[in-house]
Amino acid sequence: MNRTTTEAMPISAEVMSRYEAVIGLEVHAQLETLTKAFCACSTNFGDPPNSNTCPVCLGLPGALPVLNKKALQLAIRASLALNLEIQERSRFARKNYFYPDLPKGYQISMYELPLATDGMLEIVVEGETKTIGITRLHMEDDAGKSLHEGFPDSDKWSYIDFNRCGVPLIEIVSEPDLRTPAEAYAYLNTLKQILEYTEVSDCNMEEGSLRCDANVSVRLKGAPKFGTKAEVKNLNSFRYLSHALEYEIERQIGLIESGGKVVQETRLWNVSAGRTEPMRSKEFAHDYRYFPDPDLLPVSVLEGIVAEVSTAMPELPAAKMERFTSDYAITPYDAGVLTGTKALADYFEAAVKAGAPAKAAANWIAVELLRRLNDLGKDITECPVAPGALADLLKQVESGKITAASGKKVFVTMFETGKSASDIIAAEGLAQISDTGAIETIARAVVAKSPDNVAKYKSGNEGVFKFFVGQVMRETRGQANPQLVNEVLKRVLSES
Ligand SMILES: [Zn+2]
Repeated sequence: MNRTTTEAMPISAEVMSRYEAVIGLEVHAQLETLTKAFCACSTNFGDPPNSNTCPVCLGLPGALPVLNKKALQLAIRASLALNLEIQERSRFARKNYFYPDLPKGYQISMYELPLATDGMLEIVVEGETKTIGITRLHMEDDAGKSLHEGFPDSDKWSYIDFNRCGVPLIEIVSEPDLRTPAEAYAYLNTLKQILEYTEVSDCNMEEGSLRCDANVSVRLKGAPKFGTKAEVKNLNSFRYLSHALEYEIERQIGLIESGGKVVQETRLWNVSAGRTEPMRSKEFAHDYRYFPDPDLLPVSVLEGIVAEVSTAMPELPAAKMERFTSDYAITPYDAGVLTGTKALADYFEAAVKAGAPAKAAANWIAVELLRRLNDLGKDITECPVAPGALADLLKQVESGKITAASGKKVFVTMFETGKSASDIIAAEGLAQISDTGAIETIARAVVAKSPDNVAKYKSGNEGVFKFFVGQVMRETRGQANPQLVNEVLKRVLSES
């Protein structure tokens, strides 16, 4: 069969709607350790190629690996955060395959005895909560990196950087419970949020700290059995995950509709072509000739260790969101935005601690601050306004020293210049006019200029009052205390 033509065939929405996709994700996250999984080499990203290597991670004969305690603690922490059951006894196995970036000739992983099993994660898609099963979490080490481009002789040679060899990873395997690309996106996003909150991984996708493989099959809705699945490898961005899944689902439906069969295989997402492409026929577990690693002791996780890790568990996103709504009386929506990342939640709490009123802080951060950061493509860790500086500004708005409108202007200048709110208010003369006498003088002048409108007001036209307020505000460049303006104008008008 000519696969290219069937792949390109557009499928009607009606045909698509008769099918459902079945998706499971395998997520690899790099553990946030200073050293590698089984040796003392640094995990620092971006160091000169091959500078962080030793006989252990290069797999030289006679070298003996020793498990990094911190890596195990982080893997246990992730397991607990994902509601997995830690197995008392787990074991490292060798996953044998040949690849130039794998000097040992095998990857150290866990096979029949993984670290933890039977977990779950709640995701929210379009307001609906869904529970996604997690089959297992196991530890493994990473391979090196082949560099196929970027050198003058890249047309002839490939280079290899072994710095990544032996970097500790966890692999988290979901049940095939996801049904749409949106659910897969939400799952990965929620998982990433939890791994970041617990400081298990920095989840930096550009640096390869978080990667995802997707198992995808389709079946007619209501069909009892799963279809044949294809695995799309190495999706290292949320966008690629969504696009690859959408493409793959449509490809498989098209194949079946045109009388073809989905082949079990491993595919790659070709970013520039916008399609998945076959990489190799799917390997099976037995192809890897797994066997227990004779150089490593079985992992025995005692209850005491689990309790220790559990006690030191940082607050999880869902708990933080609940605490924000109850402690700070902010809306669940605002709490959801503010707990989006731990860094943002920390920023908010630091501002409140520095004296900012919580509701105002929530509002300003969610609207003014995030919008400006988004415009610049920056995240909260790069915010030019420190939480304490924002708190100072909000205190001045709250106390009436400046109006809310002036506050927004001051905030823009703070954001652009890094100056303090007080300096900007003084330099630009933005202090709110709360002097009744001064406001009255202006109000009397405004009223005297518009006898027509005064007459209208006297004859019961309440709407014209807004005109007077507007005039006074204009005369004071928006700096008059609005409440005082209302009071004074009412009095002046009744007297005129
Ligand atoms: Zn090493």
